[in-house]
Amino acid sequence: MSPVLAEHVSQAIYLLAAGLFIFSLRWLNRPETARRGVLAGVVGMSAAVCGTLLHPEIASYLWIAVAMALGTAVGIPLSRVPLTAVPQRTALSHAFGGLAAGLVGVAKYSLWLGEGLLTPFRTGVIGVEVILGFLTFTGSLMAAGKLQEIVPTRPITYRGQNYVNLALLGVAALCGIVLVFDPSRWPLFAMVVALSLVFGVLMILPIGGADMPTVISILNSYAGLSAVAMGFVLDNKLLVTAGALDGSSGFILSLIMCRAMNRSFTNVLFGAFGQVQAATASAGQRAVKSATPQDVVDILENASSVVIVPGYGMAVAQAQHRVRETFDQLTRRGVKVRFAIHPVAGRMPGHMNVLLAEADIPYEALVEMDDINRDLPQTDVVLVVGANDVVNPAARHDRASPIYGMPIIEADKAKLCVAIKRTMNPGFAGVDNELYYADNTLMLFGDAKAMLGEIAKILGGERGIH
Ligand code: NAP
Repeated sequence: MSPVLAEHVSQAIYLLAAGLFIFSLRWLNRPETARRGVLAGVVGMSAAVCGTLLHPEIASYLWIAVAMALGTAVGIPLSRVPLTAVPQRTALSHAFGGLAAGLVGVAKYSLWLGEGLLTPFRTGVIGVEVILGFLTFTGSLMAAGKLQEIVPTRPITYRGQNYVNLALLGVAALCGIVLVFDPSRWPLFAMVVALSLVFGVLMILPIGGADMPTVISILNSYAGLSAVAMGFVLDNKLLVTAGALDGSSGFILSLIMCRAMNRSFTNVLFGAFGQVQAATASAGQRAVKSATPQDVVDILENASSVVIVPGYGMAVAQAQHRVRETFDQLTRRGVKVRFAIHPVAGRMPGHMNVLLAEADIPYEALVEMDDINRDLPQTDVVLVVGANDVVNPAARHDRASPIYGMPIIEADKAKLCVAIKRTMNPGFAGVDNELYYADNTLMLFGDAKAMLGEIAKILGGERGIH
């Protein structure tokens, strides 16, 4: 193929890939079309790679083949991690993306420095790419380490920390500005790289492990922005488009997560949320009413409407299949069973939707928080499965609570509430839950999978309908 034709064909492929990326994001918005969205993303990315391979300036395909083999060797095992480890796997993907952008920036800087081609625009864009790329690299590695508990998960704070961090970033940006006017000062460029790498680590230190999913989506938007800068450096419009989609979707997702937790961006980034809090005097002293699986079966069988509220504990226990069995048994008896989905239940966006879909629970049975809250006062039984913060009524009235203002699923307003969890230990926010002490709440203590297994077994036993 002639170089001119190859260029035209690759541009056409890029246009197709950009369209597929946009449709992919659109389809990923709904469970019914999500699989199509994933497929469109995969086809778009494969097309983009093929289009790039047509570029006439590629002199040797050997290194590309080596890189692809290495990427595949690392990517296949990474794709097989359990669902609960997806946040750290995503953080690693962002780390690789950030590293790639940073390295392309370094390569282009040294190449163009030697050839005398560093214009102020190019140097400025390379500066942005390198800062965002390398801070995303180390920041995402730290985030993955905290989630995997290789790095201490508690927030590590010291006086003046935010000033030190901002000063570091400020010096890196200043070096970048000086370079725009005099690109030949390569020691300054090396300093930008080093400071960005250090900044990524320091930025994550004060953030608690449990806040990492939100931080990961913020890092996602940084990785996207560095890809935009890389697109300008390489004069590749598809990279600019894909980076902008990545950057803006990561930003929107972090906003949605912050809103669902009633937290601000600054509170997530600088709030040191998740530090051990002094236990409240009342905790552990009030009485709770506990029940057996048989008691719960009797209650469920006599209900006409049941709402199941899944939470992080369901994910830890991998109880979704037992939830499905309970759902099947109850619906066969004519009980109306629905699922209340809180946007930040679990530890990553869509966590509950994915687990329930894995157990083939029909999408129509899943109801969003605002809609289900309207029905809860008329609901006979709410069955809370390993959810805690997302059903804590303190969020409505206790101004001193760290979760004050967070929208919750109002399980306490139902006629009766049954909560399955192992102990009286708090959830992610580290606060006691007054729902458990309410007159209309029964506790079923135990592992969610074991308890629901018991419930489903009794329901399916001799009294069951087959
Ligand atoms: P949660 O408040 O963290 O509570 C989970 C509960 O599950 C715990 O109280 C725990 O109690 C119980 N549990 C753990 N293992 C269990 C098992 N094997 N069987 C039964 N129960 C088990 O969870 P949540 O109500 O889903 O709330 C999510 C929290 O994460 C919110 O505070 C949210 O802001 C935060 N968050 C979410 C995201 C997101 O994207 N989804 C991101 C960042 C932060 P026991 O130990 O007593 O069993």
